[in-house]
Amino acid sequence: MNDKSNVGSRKESLIKLLDVVIKHENEIIEALYEDFKKSPFEAVLTETSYVISELKDTIKNIHSWAKPKKVWPSLLNFPSTDYIYKDPYGKVLIIAPWNYPYQLALCPLISAVAAGNQVVLKPSELTPKTSAIIAKIIGKTFQPDHVKVVEGGVEETQILLSERWDYIFFTGSVAVGKIVAKAAAENLTPVTLELGGKNPCIIDETANLKLAAKRIVWGKFINAGQTCIAPDYILIQEDMKSHFVDFLKIEITKAYGENPKESPDFPRIVNEKNWLRLVSMIEPEKVIFGGENDIEDCYIAPTLIDENSMESLIMKDEIFGPLLPILTYKEESEISAILLKYEKPLALYVFTDDKKFAKKIVTNFSFGGGCINETVMHFSNKRLPFGGVGHSGIGAYHGKLSFDTFSHQKGVIKKATWLDLPLRYAPYNNKLASIKKLLKWL
Ligand code: NAD
Repeated sequence: MNDKSNVGSRKESLIKLLDVVIKHENEIIEALYEDFKKSPFEAVLTETSYVISELKDTIKNIHSWAKPKKVWPSLLNFPSTDYIYKDPYGKVLIIAPWNYPYQLALCPLISAVAAGNQVVLKPSELTPKTSAIIAKIIGKTFQPDHVKVVEGGVEETQILLSERWDYIFFTGSVAVGKIVAKAAAENLTPVTLELGGKNPCIIDETANLKLAAKRIVWGKFINAGQTCIAPDYILIQEDMKSHFVDFLKIEITKAYGENPKESPDFPRIVNEKNWLRLVSMIEPEKVIFGGENDIEDCYIAPTLIDENSMESLIMKDEIFGPLLPILTYKEESEISAILLKYEKPLALYVFTDDKKFAKKIVTNFSFGGGCINETVMHFSNKRLPFGGVGHSGIGAYHGKLSFDTFSHQKGVIKKATWLDLPLRYAPYNNKLASIKKLLKWL
């Protein structure tokens, strides 16, 4: 039995966490700026306020989420009352990435604690300032045998993965996701894998191009494109392309000025390794806007790329940076050939005023989640599951689903003793016809 099974004490520790988190909000905002020049506005919008809201929502709902849920009994069990109990798994390992280093570490942790687990959190080593404040926040809130932070990189994570866990929640790349899945398989440990992918953004001839450009520029270049659900590439009807590119240029300039390097709102690439990876994808003759870069500052400008080859480096893997290739299609039938060349993406976006086209795209393709005439914002609705499918991930979370993710759902029936129908018991003799009739009813 887990000694954290008392829901009241879980709630108290979350209330304490909320207090500590609020007190350290400015330190987190400063750390995010020091780590990769994330602007205070983006830090509040996508990190600190998100964590605070998740905490408040969990504190408000924890009792109803944790309560055993009564479900309709099966007639075969008459008379019984049936319940789903929400059991803590036990020892949970959470491994976080660097791109939203605070939110993607704290949100799963909040739900794992709410569900009654002991937690070890491994933040990303690539955002060391944020990692240090996270360790401080957790150290001030929890006893180490309840929740603790282990800072470090690959080596430390591999040591953690060699231990036995009751649940592993991993957010990061597909390649490391496979390492985590292999380690988990050793002990048949259940996992959530929140991974990435190549997210298409499809635009047809009926779309409102001006508004599409505005929403795509925001969703692509927020966090300098280092967002798992950022549009990875544009696939636009050929005739609309040049008009759309003009709108994109206007929107980028409106958002970040003539020189985005000077903009206080445009972050940097997290480190030199990622900067080199991204710059190697830029073929100068294909750049139609931006392209400026500076290794000293890990800077890459918002860049539009005129792409016509599926074989180029930029079209191989997830980009995860401020480079936006623009591809075209002539006929609708060409879309599926391009989309199906890749593993199932984490997100998909379609911009159109044609309801039938939108429905076809959303229903015909498999992807983690997405938007019609919007980018990224499906993430913000706690009532929507957030997660991938196929190579973009296993499992989903957010809101109540996060609580359920960290709970084993234990089905229990409570059978009455005042009646015991004889039908199911041997000897079966001539009871076959009766059981057939009953089973037809169910
Ligand atoms: P990553 O996979 O390199 O690292 C994630 C975590 O794994 C880090 O804590 C790191 O220390 C650890 N790690 C790295 N290499 C390891 C190894 N060989 N063995 C064991 N542990 C290792 O990912 P990242 O660069 O931090 O993040 C970027 C990736 O994460 C992108 O692919 C992005 O799409 C994905 N992502 C997904 C989501 C989501 O919610 N689905 C959110 C953010 C990022």
